[in-house]
Amino acid sequence: MNLYIDYGGTHFRYQINNEAIQTLKSENTHLVEFLDKMIPQYGIKKIGISFAGQVCDGKIISAPNIALEHMEIKRYIQTQYQVQLEIQNDLKCATLFERANSPQYKNAVVVYIGTGVGCGVMINHQLITGLNNFAGEVGHIPFKETPFVCGCGRNDCVELILGGKALKNWGNYYGIEEALCNLQTLKTTFSNHRIYENFQKGLEHLFFTLLNVYDPEIFIFGGGIMQNNPQLVENLEECYGKSAFYAVRKPPKIVLSSSTNGSLEGAKILLQYKGNIYE
Ligand SMILES: [Zn+2]
Repeated sequence: MNLYIDYGGTHFRYQINNEAIQTLKSENTHLVEFLDKMIPQYGIKKIGISFAGQVCDGKIISAPNIALEHMEIKRYIQTQYQVQLEIQNDLKCATLFERANSPQYKNAVVVYIGTGVGCGVMINHQLITGLNNFAGEVGHIPFKETPFVCGCGRNDCVELILGGKALKNWGNYYGIEEALCNLQTLKTTFSNHRIYENFQKGLEHLFFTLLNVYDPEIFIFGGGIMQNNPQLVENLEECYGKSAFYAVRKPPKIVLSSSTNGSLEGAKILLQYKGNIYE
């Protein structure tokens, strides 16, 4: 039996083989306790994990939204049980999925915006990892000062403007009910607080930064917030049309992911690589 996990900032989703995907709350789920229960119960032999945080060589380096830092999860579980475990950052998993899903593109930037914001990059079909598997951790690119402190200690990260957690923080700051902290309501009813406007500007900043650095042929956006707000993609196309890039390069395709399970699907692909995703 195979077990696939997408451990996000809000939801912990898992799937055994091709059975239905189950959803738990991340804050109520401890990864090791969960595995200790599932492995013997279902006779699990292979585990693929997509993780919303920094991961390097099977070790969880940092997880701003999840308390599991410095955990050598791969070594720990493989020592306890006769299983193969592969774990990778969620956006790198998503990029593996998008690569398999759209093999016609060689150079892609994948950005998912859900609880937070993450990015994966593929150049010439190769996933970019960097020295510490940190490449693509764009959430902490400085954007503008906010009244909040990011998990990284700064107060100006783009993730403090972009993402579901940021929207809740801003809503709380202005006394807006949590249930109303979605982009559509923030755009129409609470436009005076400029939360939507700042979100859009933050997204443009991220888009042009990534365009400059990687020169991709396609941007693929996913995650609940992007997929529920396709007007954000239209806005980026419009911004691109007005930018200096328009005259000097072919416009990148800007699309929404065709899947709402990109990270989980990517966790399945991880098992094909036996941990070596450079291939
Ligand atoms: Zn930060």
